[in-house]
Amino acid sequence: MKPTGAARLAGVAGDPIAHSLSPSLMAAWIKAAGLDAVYSPFRIAPDDAEAFFRALARTQCSGLNITLPHKQTALAIADQVSPAARAIGAANLLTFRDGMIHADNTDAAGFLGALLARGVDPERGPALVLGAGGAARAIAYALHQAGVPEIRLSNRSRSNAADLARDLVPDARIHDWDDRDQALDGAALIVNATSLGLSGAGDLVMDWRRAPTDAVAADSVYKPLQTGFLRDAAKCGLGTVDGLGMLIGQARPSFEAFFGIAPPEGVDAHALLHAMLEPAL
Ligand code: NDP
Repeated sequence: MKPTGAARLAGVAGDPIAHSLSPSLMAAWIKAAGLDAVYSPFRIAPDDAEAFFRALARTQCSGLNITLPHKQTALAIADQVSPAARAIGAANLLTFRDGMIHADNTDAAGFLGALLARGVDPERGPALVLGAGGAARAIAYALHQAGVPEIRLSNRSRSNAADLARDLVPDARIHDWDDRDQALDGAALIVNATSLGLSGAGDLVMDWRRAPTDAVAADSVYKPLQTGFLRDAAKCGLGTVDGLGMLIGQARPSFEAFFGIAPPEGVDAHALLHAMLEPAL
């Protein structure tokens, strides 16, 4: 596309930001759609975040994806907040319209989209969510909104699981972390929303023999793509959904919010990001 001098601008803000896969994914979609647009990474220190967001909202910039550690700041400074962002307590998407800042959370929809893309019916339930941080809150919210009949929670710090249940899924069953294998009995979906599995963090170990063989294990971790959690589940015959699905799923509505069209067909987003994460494969 020949530059027009009026390129639309969006980006992703975090600290650090060099690891983010979003600029590559958005650039592929922008190119395939033939848009005159730029999507840029912004490394912003926590003390500068609020001033940066407010200043950008007064420019021609369409909006920003928000990553760690700015998701709460983004929520706090917004003029309008979506029900999802309000409930989850974090915003990963800011859009700027008419000088106003709108906050949303697309992690929840992204997680559901990843399940549906793999033919997993999230409503089958029961679902076990392991973890109680930001990712777990988005996932538990998504599953509750989707009408999953029974949601089980387990987290190293039980009090954080209790807070999540109080805020988002009041009828969730909480299992002590050391007893988490018991929560596999009869589960249809088991989600790792802890940071275990990240390179260098140690694996999340489960006794997968207790899970039904038609259950599905989903991971929020995508570095590495094949976590020990997913590898062990697959060995016991379970289906698996890797963390790239959620990442791509949250980016889709962001692209649409920034540029007014859905991401174009014809870009194999999973293959693109997989090749970036594991270039030797
Ligand atoms: P948080 O820091 O908010 O939460 C971390 C969670 O992991 C907490 O529940 C914490 O338990 C648990 N945890 C940390 N260390 C251990 C340990 N040694 N043993 C047991 N539990 C542990 O992180 P996020 O929720 O933001 O992120 C979690 C993961 O999800 C990360 O790997 C992140 O990369 C990924 N993620 C992926 C996304 C995607 O699009 N695929 C989107 C967002 C996140 P406790 O409460 O006890 O501290």
